[in-house]
Amino acid sequence: MAVDTRAESPEQLRDATLVWLREQLPAGWVEAADRGDADALASLRAGLDYDDWCVRFGEAGYATPTWPAEYGAGLSLTPGEAKHVNDVLNHYKVPRPYNIIGIGMGGPTLIAWGTEEMKHRLLKPLACNQEIWCQLFSEPVAGSDVAGLATRAVRDGDEWVVNGQKVWTTVAHISRWGMLLCRTNPDVPKHAGLSYFVVDMHQPGVEVRPLVQITGDAEFNEVFFTDARVRNDWMLGREGDGWKVAITTLMNERVSLSGAGSIGGDAVGGSPVQRLLERHRGIADPLARQQLAQAYIESRLIRLNNERAAAKRKSGGEAGPEGSITKLQQAEFNQRLQKLAIDLEGATGVAWEGRNLSLTERVGRAPQVEEDALVAFGFLRAQANTIEGGTSDIMRNILGERVLGLPKEPDASREMAWKDVPRSG
Ligand SMILES: Cc1cc2nc3c(=O)[nH]c(=O)nc-3n(C[C@H](O)[C@H](O)[C@H](O)COP(=O)(O)OP(=O)(O)OC[C@H]3O[C@@H](n4cnc5c(N)ncnc54)[C@H](O)[C@@H]3O)c2cc1C
Repeated sequence: MAVDTRAESPEQLRDATLVWLREQLPAGWVEAADRGDADALASLRAGLDYDDWCVRFGEAGYATPTWPAEYGAGLSLTPGEAKHVNDVLNHYKVPRPYNIIGIGMGGPTLIAWGTEEMKHRLLKPLACNQEIWCQLFSEPVAGSDVAGLATRAVRDGDEWVVNGQKVWTTVAHISRWGMLLCRTNPDVPKHAGLSYFVVDMHQPGVEVRPLVQITGDAEFNEVFFTDARVRNDWMLGREGDGWKVAITTLMNERVSLSGAGSIGGDAVGGSPVQRLLERHRGIADPLARQQLAQAYIESRLIRLNNERAAAKRKSGGEAGPEGSITKLQQAEFNQRLQKLAIDLEGATGVAWEGRNLSLTERVGRAPQVEEDALVAFGFLRAQANTIEGGTSDIMRNILGERVLGLPKEPDASREMAWKDVPRSG
């Protein structure tokens, strides 16, 4: 049952959140977090029924505090109010749902563009981690230039028939729903011929093949559509609006990947700076001390920039291009940070005991982690940070064009009918 948080002060929001946590978390959890007892917390987490926890957490509105409460998951809070709630959840190291793409991108897109029927059907199981979502944008020849994608949808009565291939689709193998961007009109310029659907991933025309990464984890996939079907009334926006809807998703993706999202740094991968400071507290090497101090300073700068962007969203609504600043900063900082973690680890950084953990294990269940494996995992996983969610080059292009107002990058294909654009593959 969601608590009524309307018109409450920051103190009341914090108090209400703590009261709820005291009632719902296993006995001793709050006290263990208050005294910083990592061992006690780890053993309490190991005994927690994670799926059941996610349902209670989602239904109470804490997984998605800014979402409208009327759809069964959310507290209708402003981003500024939600910050007070999230501060308490972070302090008590509360387990979060691993439905990162759904919560960070799918839900906000659905809230902005979906029909009432879709919101009532889809938002609550998404927030409760019962239905996982994936993002079906990138294709083998359309990543940075995603508007050039080739997966086709053709109208057939009240449905559309989908054929084509997506790639790098994170968590598609465990997803119930996908945010599908595809071409519905090849006769107009690339941005104008796209439409955006919510597609059922459990139908026979959808084949998901996992791709193994350098971490040993198969976190993303290839997805093949062969005469798959999607309902016309599960299109977000109108036919041809796909690019506009996709921008809503991409803006929210940058916020999620900037470290500003509720699952921020850890989800991006590896050792958060605080963990590194604790692990190497008292280290004598002056260079290492300087590097740790520098990492701390940079992490604070990113946090301040995220707070500035959040304040802007608070006054103006949707996520804007400023998310590209912190997405770029966070990606490049995290790679430096994970490299520092490996360097400070010494030999165990490259020859570790214990296995790497899969995405769902790390983000969701938080089991007792082999410290060495986590450091190595963080280093390997961080290599993707400057690619996923748009490469650092693309972030710089967006910042140049949309924040600094520089001239647009030349693109000869922008005004041509998509079917006439030369392409390989
Ligand atoms: C871990 C991970 C998870 C991902 N998850 C998803 C997902 O769930 N769903 C999804 O749809 N996609 C996902 N992606 C795909 C991701 O969005 C793309 O990899 C990314 O947009 C880059 O596209 P690309 O790989 O095709 O590279 P390309 O676009 O081919 O780029 C190759 C190189 O050229 C540079 N480049 C390209 N165009 C320009 C330009 N105009 N100016 C300057 N430099 C340029 C790039 O910066 C890069 O260095 C994921 C990727 C990773 C690594």
